[in-house]
Amino acid sequence: PHLTTMTETIAFHSERHPDHTAVLTSSGQRSTYRDLHQASDAVAAGLAALGVTAGDRVAYLGREGPAYWEVLFAAARTGAVLVPVNWKLTATEVGHILADCDARVVFLDGDHPLRGTTSRHEVVTDGDYPRWRDTPRPPAPRHEATPQTPLAQLYTSGTTGLPKGVVLPHHSFFAIRDALAAAELDWIDWRDGDVALIGIPGFHIGGLWYATQAFHAGATVYSMPTFDPATVRRAVSQDGVTVAIFVPAMMRSILASGADAAEFAGLRKVVYGGAPISEALLEESARVFDCDFAQIYGLTETGNTAICLPPEQHVPGSVRLRAAGRPYPGVQVRIVEDGVEVPQGGTGEVHLRTPAAMLEYWNLPEATAATLVDGWVRTGDAGYLDDEGYLYIQDRVKDMILVGGENVFPAEIENALAAHPAVADVAVVGVPDDHTGEAVLAHVVFRPDQQASTRQLMLFLRGRIADFKLPSRYQVLDAVPRNPSGKILRRELREPHWRGHQRRVN
Ligand code: ATP
Repeated sequence: PHLTTMTETIAFHSERHPDHTAVLTSSGQRSTYRDLHQASDAVAAGLAALGVTAGDRVAYLGREGPAYWEVLFAAARTGAVLVPVNWKLTATEVGHILADCDARVVFLDGDHPLRGTTSRHEVVTDGDYPRWRDTPRPPAPRHEATPQTPLAQLYTSGTTGLPKGVVLPHHSFFAIRDALAAAELDWIDWRDGDVALIGIPGFHIGGLWYATQAFHAGATVYSMPTFDPATVRRAVSQDGVTVAIFVPAMMRSILASGADAAEFAGLRKVVYGGAPISEALLEESARVFDCDFAQIYGLTETGNTAICLPPEQHVPGSVRLRAAGRPYPGVQVRIVEDGVEVPQGGTGEVHLRTPAAMLEYWNLPEATAATLVDGWVRTGDAGYLDDEGYLYIQDRVKDMILVGGENVFPAEIENALAAHPAVADVAVVGVPDDHTGEAVLAHVVFRPDQQASTRQLMLFLRGRIADFKLPSRYQVLDAVPRNPSGKILRRELREPHWRGHQRRVN
């Protein structure tokens, strides 16, 4: 079917297969497409009764279960914009987001210390939610969304600054699927009866995007309140999960939990992205998950994925395993250095032009103008293109380390170190150095009962990466700090070293 808005999507599938499971959770909750449609209409009526109208912001702060998806469709039904908030944030951080978007209603799951700003918002707690939703009311007035109507406002995680609200229209969630269908490409294919595990949280663009793809396809969305490897293993081996989306850090923790191939026999496809992946992790994943893989690359600002490494490019040993992939039909990529497009093969900042791009950063016209230039999104990532148009992401430009005039990308060193058998995880940052300006510091997490000396790591890296890239300092960690989308919190690792020094900003 050609569906262009979330409202059409839920109406279509609840008509076509009302008894099909729309949402299933790891705690055994199940709702059909009919249930989801009716519940979202009831929530929409409740929102209308609270005075919510088109363009108002409605926040959801909590773990995802059926209520999250009901609120998503209800917001779409009333023309309100859903603001999903990371429930791991502190009260101050949440306060910033709720004030910034001026949320009319906040759905609150659990006992988040939502303080300070609550008086400005109506709050519906999880305890009140069922009774509130099921109170009889007149239906919400019908709102006719177009593909360009804002659907969701997602806050960037702030690894590179204060969180900004990225406003995404319905089209951001449909454009890529339409382009793939028109080109008859099955890079992210769906089959009847698919059950899609949303490993990436639903408040993050990756999780929200993948769930909306599952809903378009009339598949089942499998939600878990928090990610943990045991739940994932049970979801596949017992609850019938067939496809899944993960960030690389999740794949690493599933493998480290001792999972074996037999448990994953029912898994047909893994979609992964959101952070650089090492070839070592990819190859180990291929042994344990005996299924198709598709890598996606993109940003919240590009409506998630603009680039895809399709299953047929996942050939063990192939250099393509280092690529993020190539653009979907209708998406353009260019590499820019000092304001000029560089010839093929050259390194620079990746710019993307995609039909799924954000409308704007909420209330930040200057930041919008700096990121969205003539229809191109400036990604802040450094990368290059090969002669067949595959994009290789090196790392965030801001994380680049300048060692005696040479550029070093942390992700490349991490990729090389991850291949060492004793290394479980690794994070590389630049630290000040009197001689070279910056030096490479590698934080290493060893596998249980394994160790390697600095000298052994050094010898291992020699020949794999150029000498000027070799870490000159090592530090052992128990765990690498990451945000919920699996990105290394480099700023946190870097900061103690830079006190009293001025770090160059690109
Ligand atoms: P912030 O910009 O504040 O860190 P965020 O982490 O929430 O916010 P996202 O939009 O989720 O931002 O992340 C986009 C970034 O994730 C990209 O710019 C890129 O650095 C990284 N990324 C996403 N997919 C891939 C991939 N397949 N390979 C390498 N890096 C990726």
